[in-house]
Amino acid sequence: MQNSIKENLDEILSKLENTEAKLIAVTKTHPVEKLQTLYDLDFKVFGENRVQELTEKHEKLPKDIQWHLIGTLQKNKVKYVAPFVAMIHSVESFSLLKEINKRAKQNERVIECLLQMHIAEEDTKFGLNETELYEILESEELKNFENIKLVGLMGMATFTDNKNQVRAEFKNLKTLFDKVKTNFKTENIDFREISMGMSGDYPIAIEEGATLVRVGSAIFGKR
Ligand SMILES: *Cc1c(COP(=O)(O)O)cnc(C)c1O
Repeated sequence: MQNSIKENLDEILSKLENTEAKLIAVTKTHPVEKLQTLYDLDFKVFGENRVQELTEKHEKLPKDIQWHLIGTLQKNKVKYVAPFVAMIHSVESFSLLKEINKRAKQNERVIECLLQMHIAEEDTKFGLNETELYEILESEELKNFENIKLVGLMGMATFTDNKNQVRAEFKNLKTLFDKVKTNFKTENIDFREISMGMSGDYPIAIEEGATLVRVGSAIFGKR
């Protein structure tokens, strides 16, 4: 028989005990009833990858849930999540950051953002390269963005059974994170989060220093 959501959650949380990492339950494609099950177990940190699904679920569920947007965000959709989103993991351009700042300001909020890095071998995965990362961090205009805070980096490893490769990719992200953390500290750049690790690779990510793991199918079963 399949494990229950509670059993899965407990198992993952026990692996995270005494580590730096916090869990984000990736709830995409699952009906609100399943999210409510987690909520009733007192787990309230959810990740979604689509804006429409995120806003619909936000409307239907209790308002003390912390919502993380982990998927690609189009500029014209920022306005829908700006009123409530806790963190955006998938910032991949300066112009997107500018739009997030604008919409956050309209909502009198400060939105925490992660810059998504391209760490995988496949070129199908999104994300910035190192040059693009520094272009954003060193931009003069960034200093004026009072309604965003850049709090770290996000990355997705290559989808492979090769654990050494996955580990090496996570290590690269951690090295980059450490570099930025020591070299950039401003009003709106304050690195503390590394979002890496999914159902298949989160134990490796934790060993390599993840502070946020995004786990879906290991909690809810296959989508
Ligand atoms: C779906 C998704 C996850 C979770 O994937 P699982 O393999 O189900 O744990 C993590 N991060 C992102 C960006 C996702 O889209």
